[in-house]
Amino acid sequence: MSADPIHTLADLDTWSFAGTALAVLGHPIKHSVSPPMHNAALAEMAKRDARFASWKYFRFDIAPDDLPVALEKLHARNFHGINLTVPHKIIAFDRVAVVDPAARPIGAVNTLRRTPAGWHGYNTDGYGLATAIHETLDRQLTGAHILLLGAGGAARGAAVECLQRGCASLTIVNRTQANLDALLAQLAPLAGASLITGTTFAPNPPAGALIINATSAGLKPTDPLPVDLAALQRPAAVFDMIYNPPETPLLAQARSLGIPSANGLGMLVHQGARALEIWSDAAVPVDAMRTAVHSAMKAHA
Ligand code: NDP
Repeated sequence: MSADPIHTLADLDTWSFAGTALAVLGHPIKHSVSPPMHNAALAEMAKRDARFASWKYFRFDIAPDDLPVALEKLHARNFHGINLTVPHKIIAFDRVAVVDPAARPIGAVNTLRRTPAGWHGYNTDGYGLATAIHETLDRQLTGAHILLLGAGGAARGAAVECLQRGCASLTIVNRTQANLDALLAQLAPLAGASLITGTTFAPNPPAGALIINATSAGLKPTDPLPVDLAALQRPAAVFDMIYNPPETPLLAQARSLGIPSANGLGMLVHQGARALEIWSDAAVPVDAMRTAVHSAMKAHA
């Protein structure tokens, strides 16, 4: 049996793990590197604090229709923490007992912590994004002119984070007008001092902008560029949320133009580290998580 078997809803009826259980729920879940990432962190944490020796992170393939019953069963089985990935982040938002105030404008949760009364929902994706951009590109969202590509779930979280951190301006470009309009309407109350604009055409952000790709264009080698960097005034840096493949066509173009760039691996690691902090109330070994992700991705390649 694999070290990280894929569990199903039915397994919860006979669940017998005696330690502190954590889990990621997704559909599909086969490619998630969260179990090795979190279990590596827990092994490291157990060296300093024996209570973590009995913690374990599992993965479950749960169809969207089954999510409400899965959350009930996981609560009844005393699971301590849950991560949610595609397509569950938005569905779960209305299914938790309490939503962290910072997650409310996003309308999606990716981290749940058990309370006796039900699940407390958080969203750690924005923290992961901001921390990774600072770590890999030495850039802050605060005060930045940002060109955000995409208007899906990841873009919504990124946009809220940019606005909450006080970006100077936010330009959103998206292929489908209706999805762009819906996102702009949701963001309007949060704009504060930041200027928000949206377009489905070639964007024109100021020179020195930070570009964030939150589209799925780049997952396949044949995907079109989500924006042509050569047609823009020179950006300061490009962050692509995609981490597999490690270099998308957008990142390859940034490299060929000499523009600093980074993929989404740091975001994955830091959103996970923040989730583990929420569950454990302890310091989390980020380097062990990063090393585990690199190994897991090599094994998947
Ligand atoms: P959604 O399906 O919600 O949104 C997809 C977005 O991509 C939409 O804006 C869509 O535009 C756009 N898009 C899709 N294909 C193309 C294309 N060929 N050309 C231009 N635009 C396109 O996905 P998510 O928001 O959940 O995820 C987006 C990306 O972010 C994924 O690649 C995901 O892996 C990554 N991600 C990474 C994370 C990390 O930790 N590093 C965390 C979360 C997400 P339209 O509205 O026109 O359909």
